[in-house]
Amino acid sequence: MRVLFAASEAHPFIKTGGLGDVMGALPKSLAKLGVDVRVVIPKYKNIKDELKQKLQFVKWFTVSVGWRNQYCGIFQYQYKGVIYYFIDNEYYFNRDGLYGYFDDGERFAFFNRAVLEFIKQIDWQPDLINCNDWQTGMVPVLLNLEYKKDEFYSKIKTVFSIHNLLFKGSFSPKVLPELFGYDYMPLVNGSVELDGSVSFLKGGLNYCDQITTVSNTYAEEIKTPQYGEGLDGFLRSKSYYLMGIVNGIDYEEFNPQDDKLIFKNFNINSIDNKVQNKLSLQRELGLPQKKDTPMIGLISRLTHQKGCDLIVNMIDRLLQRDIQLVILGTGDYWYEETFKNLQYRYPDKVSANIKFDNTLAHKIYAATDMFLMPSLFEPCGLGQLIALRYGSIPIVRETGGLKDTISPYNQYNGVGNGFGFKNFNSNELMQIIEYALTIYNDKNAWNNIIRQAMNSDNSWEKSAMQYKWLYEGVVNRS
Ligand code: ADP
Repeated sequence: MRVLFAASEAHPFIKTGGLGDVMGALPKSLAKLGVDVRVVIPKYKNIKDELKQKLQFVKWFTVSVGWRNQYCGIFQYQYKGVIYYFIDNEYYFNRDGLYGYFDDGERFAFFNRAVLEFIKQIDWQPDLINCNDWQTGMVPVLLNLEYKKDEFYSKIKTVFSIHNLLFKGSFSPKVLPELFGYDYMPLVNGSVELDGSVSFLKGGLNYCDQITTVSNTYAEEIKTPQYGEGLDGFLRSKSYYLMGIVNGIDYEEFNPQDDKLIFKNFNINSIDNKVQNKLSLQRELGLPQKKDTPMIGLISRLTHQKGCDLIVNMIDRLLQRDIQLVILGTGDYWYEETFKNLQYRYPDKVSANIKFDNTLAHKIYAATDMFLMPSLFEPCGLGQLIALRYGSIPIVRETGGLKDTISPYNQYNGVGNGFGFKNFNSNELMQIIEYALTIYNDKNAWNNIIRQAMNSDNSWEKSAMQYKWLYEGVVNRS
């Protein structure tokens, strides 16, 4: 079976969050199961330099964007048994960052058509294209409205994976004629329409053969008004085609036993070595070196979704205790400034690192005792899975993938790999952290939780098998 992943980011080339991690790990696991899997992403300016230099030029051709013809170069690189393709156009992608430009609609309209054009150019015919989030949502639309008339494309199926329903890729109706050369019919008949705009996400959901999302709970949640982002009714109508498959993490990439990025390696039989990571990180970040002081980590986009408001509301109360808080993240200006200010007010207790830094992220996972993820909603969440692997105990709000992967500690039978609270409320967050701090003082109980955390299996193997099974079903569906 031949599967093409179309996405807007992929680790180790470039990533801003969980989608990038998934594109770096799931294809590799599918390849191990015998699937001929390839990945295509844009060739951004900020792809890591050492990798960018190794990309090999394949060929170039032109791609139409409305009435214009734009240059499209193809580069490729083999990474861990998987071929990654890069769509090159300097006007669209030779800019800093990935998204957030005024012309994102045009940039990804180009990318979506380029995805369909390049497979014919290289004469590789996938059985199925797995699209991911709004940035690739128009692939199923183009395929069904135009390309399937061509024999080469006629049998290609599509899966659309939702990594975050919040981002809808909504643009003015004008994009239909200007970027795709269409009339307004897809808007008028509602198939790409959302609140009067053209939504690439809605288009992808409507025209694909199968919808997946990244956890079972999120698959249920998005069918309700609370989580459905205005698409809940539509998703209920599609529920037969909607399935949750929980994400894993790359167990080679995140392995405390031989991770080169952390200070001291450790495993489940040498949990005591973990404390060396805490002491070294304290030194690096200028915090007092205290091995018994509980250290809490937060590695996240700093946005409302990630529960930053809850943290801001209760953090002064929490910081009256003997704890240290290490923050790594970028995001909304207001949260960035609030956390910087927190470090200014509590220099011995708070380290706020407002940047994207993979090495520091690994060090924090390895060093911290607890890991905060009080999300408003969380499609899957990878932070908590990485934290489990490094014995940093997740404290999460029980929603989406957090609910599916963290079993809250039960002090009566000692079972659990983390701590959870239900309502999006800063007092509940405060209470659960206080409870975790109490258990932390009981070394036996705490080590028992660490062992359960490190023993949790969140590797990709199981989920990759589910994807393969799903693909087979979709490809064979008439
Ligand atoms: P998201 O909603 O952002 O995709 P996830 O928990 O699914 O959230 O994935 C976040 C990924 O990005 C994790 O691998 C996390 O470690 C990483 N990450 C987030 N912020 C930073 C940062 N500032 N520096 C380094 N890594 C980060």
